[in-house]
Amino acid sequence: MKRRRFLQSLFASSFAIAPWTAAGVRLQTSRSTSWRKRIALRYQADVAVIGGGIAGVTAACSAARSGASVILVERFAVTGGNLTTGGVASFCGETAGQGMVFDEIITDLEKFAAIAPYRPYPDLEARVFDHTILAVVLQEMLLRYGVKLLLHTQFVDALNSKDRITACLVSGPSGPEGLHAEQYIDCTGEAALVHAAGFATMKGRPEDGLQLPMSMMFFVRHVAPELAAPQAPEGWFDAIRRKDELPMTSLWPNGLAGNALKIKIPGFDAADTESMTAAEIQGRRRMMQVLDYYQRIEKKPWRLEYCSPRIGIREGRRAVGDYVLTVDDLRAGRKFVDAIATGVFYLDGHKPDDDKRTYILPPDQLAVPPYQIPFRCLLVGRAKNVLAAGRCFSATQLALSSSRVSTTCAMMGQAAGIAAGLAVEKRCDPRDLDPVEVRSIVERRGAVLN
Ligand SMILES: Cc1cc2nc3c(=O)[nH]c(=O)nc-3n(C[C@H](O)[C@H](O)[C@H](O)COP(=O)(O)OP(=O)(O)OC[C@H]3O[C@@H](n4cnc5c(N)ncnc54)[C@H](O)[C@@H]3O)c2cc1C
Repeated sequence: MKRRRFLQSLFASSFAIAPWTAAGVRLQTSRSTSWRKRIALRYQADVAVIGGGIAGVTAACSAARSGASVILVERFAVTGGNLTTGGVASFCGETAGQGMVFDEIITDLEKFAAIAPYRPYPDLEARVFDHTILAVVLQEMLLRYGVKLLLHTQFVDALNSKDRITACLVSGPSGPEGLHAEQYIDCTGEAALVHAAGFATMKGRPEDGLQLPMSMMFFVRHVAPELAAPQAPEGWFDAIRRKDELPMTSLWPNGLAGNALKIKIPGFDAADTESMTAAEIQGRRRMMQVLDYYQRIEKKPWRLEYCSPRIGIREGRRAVGDYVLTVDDLRAGRKFVDAIATGVFYLDGHKPDDDKRTYILPPDQLAVPPYQIPFRCLLVGRAKNVLAAGRCFSATQLALSSSRVSTTCAMMGQAAGIAAGLAVEKRCDPRDLDPVEVRSIVERRGAVLN
């Protein structure tokens, strides 16, 4: 209720019909049902990676490199997560020394002439690439590594017996099917597997659960001035007529004849079905308003070319791991004997309760020195055969505001894949591994742990 009131006050004029009040549909909280159904245990692998964002792809490839049979489950048509379906299209932070798998991604993008030239961070803060080409590069890499890829396949539920996942329910075009693996890696961004299996998770800021804001990414094409015209019919959306009425809007070139735009959409919950539905609706409405402002008021010769098929999610549900990375660890540049990844990016924590360019911390408190992430942050509390990597790893909201960047997520993914592969080889569980051995493989595979 608190969240809804906040949203309604923030965007009262944009929500002519709140999406959760569709006529005739009632929400039931007091009734429940259950059913039993036999399904084929169709997929069997040493390692199952759930979620095919950058963390999932690097996890799957590195586990396969260790000799494990690997299956990757992704609910959308392409892998890459935020970077492809979310339209993000740039690697923030340091792009060298993130590990062999990430190096291969960069090399392949370079072969397609689809990435900006290298410059070290912070000289270059974000290395732009072509997100359509990235989707191709990632699928080809997964196939090269021999990963069994299941696209259009949603992870639905997990069976947990004595803190060990014994099977997962996935559902794709063939319908519900079972999957069994020795080791599981949750790279869903929302800790979907960890949550479904009943292990502890966290989300949002402690006082009210509000998460880092989402953003809608869209792209415009430059057209000849005589072809330029506003696209939104008058009266469909509340008009923005002054620059100071715009939500936080980031704008940068996209190729020679286009721009990418990113607009801040705060106040939604990535781990709530109705809230995500509302976020997508709000994201597209705001896109049309912002586009209309630029076309009508600033007379930009733009045509809308592409809107990312899903809103970009910075923060969702996260696993509570054996260690929770904090902002103090980042500020101190803390070193860990079981370090498996590093981060360098500043605390990019956009304020979650307004849509302007505001940050949780004052500007002079955003910088952090290079810091390390310990293996214990990937070990899910109590769970025997589950690791969590990428933006659903164990960190506080502010620590995540830096470590969620794709380069750091890729490093975590590679480390999780290495640990899962090693656990299969040694017939043990990840928390029984010698973390120093995990670290040394991570380093041998090209990750530079500052
Ligand atoms: C608007 C925005 C701008 C950003 N800008 C930058 C930037 O410029 N540079 C940068 O480096 N980082 C940026 N980031 C951060 C970065 O993009 C992400 O944090 C990072 O890519 C996360 O990777 P991930 O693999 O952990 O998660 P995700 O990319 O979220 O991938 C998770 C994957 O799991 C899949 N999945 C989820 N649930 C299920 C399920 N139940 N079954 C099957 N599959 C499932 C999803 O479809 C998705 O493909 C930005 C993020 C946002 C939102």
